[in-house]
Amino acid sequence: MKKVIIIGSGMGGLATALRLSTLGYEVTVLEKFHQPGGRLNIIEEKGFLFDQGPSFMSMSYEFKELFDSCGLPYLFKQEPLEPVYQVFFEGKKRSYRVSKDLGKLQEEFKEFEPDIALKVERYLKRAKAFFDDTEKEAVKSNFDNIFDYLIKLAKVPKKHLPYLFKSLWKQVEEDFSSEELRMIFSLCAFFLGTTPFDTPAIYSLLSYVELRHDSYWSIEGGMYKIVEEIMKALKSRGVDSHFNTEVVEVLSRDNKAYSVKDQNGKIWESDIFVCNADAASFRGQVLKRPEYSEEKLDKMQWGMAPFTIYLGVKGKIPNLLHHNYFLGKNFTQYAQTIFSMTSSPEKPYYYVNASSKTWAGCAPENCENLFILCPMPDLRTKKDWSDKEALANNIIDDFAKRVGFDVQSNTIVKKILTPLDWQNMFNLYKGSGLSLCHGLNQIGIFRPKNKDEKLKNFYYVGASTIPGTGLPMVIIGSKLVLERIQKDERALS
Ligand SMILES: Cc1cc2nc3c(=O)[nH]c(=O)nc-3n(C[C@H](O)[C@H](O)[C@H](O)COP(=O)(O)OP(=O)(O)OC[C@H]3O[C@@H](n4cnc5c(N)ncnc54)[C@H](O)[C@@H]3O)c2cc1C
Repeated sequence: MKKVIIIGSGMGGLATALRLSTLGYEVTVLEKFHQPGGRLNIIEEKGFLFDQGPSFMSMSYEFKELFDSCGLPYLFKQEPLEPVYQVFFEGKKRSYRVSKDLGKLQEEFKEFEPDIALKVERYLKRAKAFFDDTEKEAVKSNFDNIFDYLIKLAKVPKKHLPYLFKSLWKQVEEDFSSEELRMIFSLCAFFLGTTPFDTPAIYSLLSYVELRHDSYWSIEGGMYKIVEEIMKALKSRGVDSHFNTEVVEVLSRDNKAYSVKDQNGKIWESDIFVCNADAASFRGQVLKRPEYSEEKLDKMQWGMAPFTIYLGVKGKIPNLLHHNYFLGKNFTQYAQTIFSMTSSPEKPYYYVNASSKTWAGCAPENCENLFILCPMPDLRTKKDWSDKEALANNIIDDFAKRVGFDVQSNTIVKKILTPLDWQNMFNLYKGSGLSLCHGLNQIGIFRPKNKDEKLKNFYYVGASTIPGTGLPMVIIGSKLVLERIQKDERALS
């Protein structure tokens, strides 16, 4: 059977390794970091276990499909989250819980919009249509060329077209009268790494995913269990994984790659290569393609850069849920300026995950594990991170006040990662945590392709190729790249 080298062990790389090993390919994984998972990683310290990056598990059926189609049992113990999350608005005495149940939602938010149930029902009905009508043709499809792309898009009902050109913010302004509801229904733009002002309204489909479709789950033991299970399966199938191994050169002749070189000069030969490193920046930085020079990469739209804090604290914080957002009073101005700021904001907006709220084993007894994420501009804009301690303390002090808990004197573990750290750990372009954004010029046929333009046995999987960013998307991407490889192999035989 043919040999395949996978460059990178993020969710996209691991899912592809699993699918190819199921078909009998001889797979080797080469990973720059010291352990697998990429952004889906884990930090463990003093009995605290933190999800390093992804903490929202959505579209769980894509994870199940991956395991099922590779002949593996889906052993995770997962719980649906209800309420799905809560929001702390600055200046309000209590938090507001976002529920899948319209009746509860109505009761919770009646002070802001008395007829919210009706409005949400209408909003989610339209969002469902966006989801259902685009999933097959626009998300779960390979595109061979622009005509193929246009033919597939032509199958999407024309009535959705205006929502590609209207911003998500404009949409929520039309559909909700209170600033609070507008904020809640535009938060999903940040999952795409950008703001509701730059995100097409069609992405309101994410609210349908969040509140209706499969919603959010919590996995026993944390998100890294997914990586651990896949690694077990790969090992049992004889897949070799090599860590601290960064591919720095691709050797080719006659438009075919025949080996890659790592940072120590070691040569790794293979028949087929799948690159899970960023599909845009790898083309520029390693393959030296002029279309992806630093100047061109810098002009692309990249998703937010994460500033993350991991806090192990002694004591329980009663009014926290698994997912919690902490928002200020100036959402419009904040969202419009945050990604162009060269210094840290005075009053940051942030998200706090406390998986110890659903799974006791994630923290020692009577403790909480807090993972704080503050979306920041990438390193093109904010280059200097010497203020990281000050920003972390600012966030922690604000959080302590809003939940009424003395965090500073109960801290057992504290770790901070800046966009510089995220860049260096996983080769994330200028520290972008969500890779290329999803504007019209960077989706579908306009996104870096999952098959190389020149090397006929070189493919890509992951957040910067199709269909896009987020764990379920890169799992779908692994299916798409498999289809490409199989099609090419059939043509050769
Ligand atoms: C803070 C944060 C929070 C997030 N939250 C969520 C969430 O809640 N839910 C969700 O679904 N998604 C979330 N995401 C997005 C999600 O993490 C990504 O979309 C997804 O993990 C990307 O997977 P990937 O396989 O494309 O790439 P990666 O995870 O980036 O993996 C690529 C791998 O390739 C390795 N690599 C790079 N270059 C080389 C090289 N030259 N040689 C060898 N190896 C190399 C890297 O070290 C890395 O391990 C979040 C991301 C971040 C940063």
